Amino acid sequence: MPQAAFDCVIRAGRVGTAVDEFDADIGIQDGTIAAIGRDLAAGAIEIDARGKLVLPGGIDAHAHIEQLSAAGIVNADTFESATTAAAFGGTTTVICFAAQHRGMNLMTVVADYMALARKGAVIDYTFHMILTDPTKVTLEEHVPALVAQGHSTLKVFMTYDLLNVGDEGLLDILLAARRNKAFVCVHAENHGMISWMGKKLVEKGYTAPKYHTVSHPRGCEAEAFTRLIAFAELIDQPIMIFHVSTAEGVDVIRRARGRGLKVFAETCPQYLFMTAKDLDKPGVEGAKWMCSPPPRTEADQEAIWQGLALGDLQVVSSDHAPYAFDATGKLSAGANPSFKQIANGLPGIEARLPLLFDAMVSKGRLGLPKFVELTATAPAKIYNLHPRKGSIAVGADADLVIWDPKRQVALADGMLHDRTGYTPYAGRTVRGWPETVLRRGEVVVRADKLAARPGSGAFLPRTGGAAAAPLGRLAADMDPARNFGARLY
Ligand SMILES: [Zn+2]
Repeated sequence: MPQAAFDCVIRAGRVGTAVDEFDADIGIQDGTIAAIGRDLAAGAIEIDARGKLVLPGGIDAHAHIEQLSAAGIVNADTFESATTAAAFGGTTTVICFAAQHRGMNLMTVVADYMALARKGAVIDYTFHMILTDPTKVTLEEHVPALVAQGHSTLKVFMTYDLLNVGDEGLLDILLAARRNKAFVCVHAENHGMISWMGKKLVEKGYTAPKYHTVSHPRGCEAEAFTRLIAFAELIDQPIMIFHVSTAEGVDVIRRARGRGLKVFAETCPQYLFMTAKDLDKPGVEGAKWMCSPPPRTEADQEAIWQGLALGDLQVVSSDHAPYAFDATGKLSAGANPSFKQIANGLPGIEARLPLLFDAMVSKGRLGLPKFVELTATAPAKIYNLHPRKGSIAVGADADLVIWDPKRQVALADGMLHDRTGYTPYAGRTVRGWPETVLRRGEVVVRADKLAARPGSGAFLPRTGGAAAAPLGRLAADMDPARNFGARLY
């Protein structure tokens, strides 16, 4: 019997990238794509992809996994369950968080999350480091040491009592990032507005989950984006604005980008497919749809789609933040909590790609190449995982998803693989489903079964890369040539 030319050949599928669609075989050798062509020689494993789409594995650049909240609530997923859910949903790389809480040593925090991922992850992973305690030691010793180990994004909160770093903390972090060629991702909402509105609402008895949406007035997004962008411009530090939810927020980003600033932006399925009305349910049921920022209106959805179409927003991530709808999660403060006592966040790591595939490929909004771009190629490039990840090219990791474009799936509670037991998209039917998933050439999902061992996911060390490189356009106040010689960097 002739020796197989490849470890695996995916035969006769329709291959899609962020720029092209074509019929081809893909030959895989040693975990990477070795050949793309017609009538390739035999593989030791042959996968028939006739009538199917072969797309790059998804990259989910924003997922909270096995993370302890500031309020001490552990999220419902372990690395094993969250990355299993990711794999079933066609995602082969995740960027999750190593979350420092106040008083914690960042070195220890990162080592702890690395150990959890090493034990449980079934897909490849890398981290954003959440900084809530930007002390001198953290910024001047730990951040440089961790960046050198391949942890090159800092994540900052501008809101939440126990997480937000304040204006000066944010400036300190932007400067530390610039010094270390790291990238900065930000949860940008005005803290005072949210805090004040929350108190007013609760005082007057408006405690149901739907009032959570009111407590994050839409203006708190544009205000924080504007302030953040002014800070980033002062420091000359590129930023990523996470989970954009409002039309006004999109406008602020568009104007900044129009001025040539390196402002990148992300949105999530909850801002494209949900509105505030989804929280208007009897009792505390609406808690299942609670996330921050909250879903807004249909007009915002349209503005965000337009932002994606024009490139003002580049990435769609899940912001997977799973809490079970019980006393371990959403209802940890009792059976009848006020919205202020309910953990924020939704499960979404598995549904992200099917929801977007249905909207963009099956229903045609923005089309297949843009689907691949927003969910794989752009996050790979921005977070410096490309060309290893994010596309289908010779030499790239063979992270490939074979989609059945015709399969219709009615989403329902309990059918996905995370541990919340519910999906905010229950009752919707999507067309198109990830059928077979390969991670570095290995079949990890096939015929609705997982074939990957916990811990088989690999850590992807990263440098900041091109997106994180400053413009070199110094603000006058930071430029010794124009600030009377003050050296502030
Ligand atoms: Zn998040």
